[in-house]
Amino acid sequence: MTAQENIHFFNTFTRRKERFVPLEKGKARMYTCGLTVYDFGHIGNSRAFIFEDLVRRWLEYRGYKVTQVMNITDVDDRTIKASRKQGVPLKEVTDKYIKAFSEDIEALNIEKAEHYPKATEHIPEMVALVRKLIDKGYAYRGEDGSLYYDISKFKDYGKLAKIKLEALKPGARVKVDEYAKEEAQDFALWKAWDEGDGDVYWQTELGKGRPGWHIECSAMSMKYLGETFDIHCGGVDNIFPHHENEIAQSEAATGKRFVNYWLHNEHLLVEGRKMAKSLGNYFTVKDLTGKGYDPMAIRYLMLSTHYRQQLNFTFEGLEAAKKTVERLTNFARRLLDADGNGVGEDVKLLTDRVQNSFEEAMDDDLNISAALAALFDFIREVNNYLDKNRVSRQEAERIFSMVMRFDEALGVIGEVKKQESLSKEAEELIRRREEARHSKDWKEADRLREQLKALDVIIEDTAQGVKWHIEKH
Ligand SMILES: [Zn+2]
Repeated sequence: MTAQENIHFFNTFTRRKERFVPLEKGKARMYTCGLTVYDFGHIGNSRAFIFEDLVRRWLEYRGYKVTQVMNITDVDDRTIKASRKQGVPLKEVTDKYIKAFSEDIEALNIEKAEHYPKATEHIPEMVALVRKLIDKGYAYRGEDGSLYYDISKFKDYGKLAKIKLEALKPGARVKVDEYAKEEAQDFALWKAWDEGDGDVYWQTELGKGRPGWHIECSAMSMKYLGETFDIHCGGVDNIFPHHENEIAQSEAATGKRFVNYWLHNEHLLVEGRKMAKSLGNYFTVKDLTGKGYDPMAIRYLMLSTHYRQQLNFTFEGLEAAKKTVERLTNFARRLLDADGNGVGEDVKLLTDRVQNSFEEAMDDDLNISAALAALFDFIREVNNYLDKNRVSRQEAERIFSMVMRFDEALGVIGEVKKQESLSKEAEELIRRREEARHSKDWKEADRLREQLKALDVIIEDTAQGVKWHIEKH
C-alpha cells in the first residue's frame, strides 16, 4: 500500500474510521459549507475552516490533487433579515462580509479553495434541481405557494443524523432554514415571496421567490464536483437538518450516492461556555487581531485540539499557543544557524522516528495531538544537540526541510518568518556597524545602515541593543 492510500477519516455516515479511497486515484474532491454572510465570521466559523484546511493540507501532503469548493451563502433567512434590519440592499450587506471573510482566510493562512460559488449566482442550477425533484414526485407546492420536499418519499431520510421518522406527522412542514432533529418534517426547496423578503426574489418557472438554504449546497456542490464526490465537511450543527437535507435532495434527484465521506468538527466553546453575543464571549478574528493577538497563534490554538473534540477557547490558551508557535519558529531559525561537527547516527534515528510518528498520527483521522507530541519531543532532543553546537550544517538542513514539510500541513511557521533569518552578508554588515559605533565612527555606522537597508534589513538601536527586521514589500 502506498502512503497515499493510508489516510483514515472518521465518517459521520457510518460512525466509523474508514480508509480514504477516492473516486479517482490521486484526486480528492471536497465540499465545505462556507460562511453565511450576514455578519462577520466568528471564531467558531474559523475553527471549522481551519479544520477543513487541515484535511485539505494533509491530503496534499500525501500527494493528492485537491479540488475544494466552499460556497458562500449570500441569500437565506439570515442575510435577508440583516439587510432589512440595516436598511441596505442585500448585496451591500453580503459584499461587506464576503470581503471580511476573505481577509480572515488570508490572515489565518487557510489555503484558498478552487471555487467559492455564491448562491445568488447559481439560481438557474437550483431551479433545475427543484424541477427535477418535482418531476420525480419528491416535491409539492404548499398552500403558501412554496415548494416543499416530501421526506416521506425518500426512504432513507434520516440516515446521516440517525433519526427515526415514526413519530412524523404527515404533511407537517417547515419553511425556515434551521430547526431541530426532533422537528424533522417537509422542508422548503423554494420559498414563495412574502413581505419579509422585501425586494429579494427571483421570478422563475417555480414562481416568484427564492431558494431554500439546503438546495443551494446541493446545487453548487454537484455543479463543481459531480453528482457523487469524495468528502463533505462542516460543523456538527450542520448534520441536521442541513446535510441530511442535502442528501435527500441530491440522491432523490440523481439516484446516486451523493457523498462518500462526511467529516464534521465539534463545537467551539469560549472560556467554557457556548459563545454568545449576550454573554460577552463572542469574538471574530478581527476582534482578536485587533487586541494584538497573532493570527498564527489563533490558528495553532484551533488546530491543536482534535477536530472531533470540543475546543475550549481561552485567552490563556491563546497565550500558550503564541509561545508554542514561537518555539517552532525559533527552532526552524536555529537550524539555519547550525554549524557543528555533526551528531551522526542519533540524529538520523530521531528524524526517521519523528517522521513516522507524525505521519502515522495524521493518517489516523488527523490525530493532531499525537503528531504534535512527537514533533515537540523531537524538537527537545535536537535542541539539546543545538545547545552543545553539535548539529552539522548538513544535518540541520535535513531537519529543517522535514520540519518545513510538516509545516505544509500545519501552516503555522510560514515562509515569511523563515526569511527572518539574516544572510551571512547582512550579519557581517551588522557586526561591522557595531564595531564602527563602538569606536564612535558614526559616519561609517550610517553608511553601513544604508547598505543594510539596500538589503531590506532595517536596523534599530534600542536600550536592549541592536534590533533588526526584514522589510516586507
Ligand atoms: Zn452547506
